[in-house]
Amino acid sequence: MKTYVIAAIPGDGIGPEVIGAGVAVLQSLARHSNRFSLAVTDFDYGSDHYRRHGVMMPADGLDRLRGFDALYFGAVGAPDIPDDVTLWGLRLAICQGFDQYANVRPTRILAGLRSPLRDCSPDDLDWVIVRENSEGEYAGQGGRSHRGHPEEIATEVAIFTRAGVARIMRFAFALAQSRPRKRLTVVTKSNAQRHGMVLWDEIAAETATQFPDVAWDKMLVDAMTVRMVHDPASLDTVVATNLHADILSDLAAALAGSIGIAPTANLNPERRFPSMFEPIHGSAFDIMGKGIANPVGAFWTAAQMLDHLGETEAAARLMAAVELVTASGIRTRDLGGEATTKQVTEAVIGAIEQG
Ligand code: ATP
Ligand code: MG
Repeated sequence: MKTYVIAAIPGDGIGPEVIGAGVAVLQSLARHSNRFSLAVTDFDYGSDHYRRHGVMMPADGLDRLRGFDALYFGAVGAPDIPDDVTLWGLRLAICQGFDQYANVRPTRILAGLRSPLRDCSPDDLDWVIVRENSEGEYAGQGGRSHRGHPEEIATEVAIFTRAGVARIMRFAFALAQSRPRKRLTVVTKSNAQRHGMVLWDEIAAETATQFPDVAWDKMLVDAMTVRMVHDPASLDTVVATNLHADILSDLAAALAGSIGIAPTANLNPERRFPSMFEPIHGSAFDIMGKGIANPVGAFWTAAQMLDHLGETEAAARLMAAVELVTASGIRTRDLGGEATTKQVTEAVIGAIEQG
């Protein structure tokens, strides 16, 4: 019997509500497994930590997290603290510190749920969006001069390196190859952005030669939004830059029913550092403390975590339980239901215990 050590970082807003629900579901899976148990340690990093100590996490925060098998993250962000502090101080510090360069965002229509697209069946929408997670538009490069003056200039420089683009491209082609349809769409904006985006196109073509069985095509990001709405069945695996994939995956989540169900894995594929699993939604202060946050995104990403740990059976069992519950009509308000976070969580645990 294996024991996985998991660091839970519930964070801000509804983060603690959905991560609490996720840990309860994970522990129920562990109880019903003769393969593994879970030792979960909570970390209080986030906006409250910032208010008390002036930093989102302690200076040796990354060192404290380094030895864990996986990180289970809620959300970060608070209305009274600049995003620059919350995001860069915690989430991006972890992603960059642990070189989690591949951000993997599966999207499909779970049993019983409906897409806002007319005539879109679950067979028509089954995507994985791969987001470059270490450089590009979110490299933090740039600056401002002549602050507050009429001649003020701000630059926001996207950094694309051959090594950085090549590794995400290899990852995306390999992922596409592992899926039944073996199809990859590479998204850029190389008609208007003439340097970094052209490098993406070139490296895509180079990488494709190593994956002759993967059918691939290129899309400009603006045309891609239209294709996602009008022809979702033509897409399977998608790879895009940090900024583009950030936007496309919010659209994808909404097309699959709600931002509250969507999961994401921040992977260090070489496993030199722990990977981090989180729902894609943010801290959502408008619904905090009401007990109505949808925990499905946190459950789905827990399944991604189990997959990453090699517990594929438990991961499949978790998703089967989630879909039994979504199909039964026990849903939170964002999905048109009336159930609370607690009711959905108890129903999923019930389905795991019966399955
Ligand atoms: P961020 O700044 O990180 O994007 P946010 O607070 O804007 O965070 P989002 O995740 O972008 O939150 O969510 C936008 C809105 O969608 C929220 O304000 C909330 O009403 C709704 N929402 C998000 N997540 C959930 C969830 N898990 N369950 C129910 N509703 C949600
Ligand atoms: Mg938001």
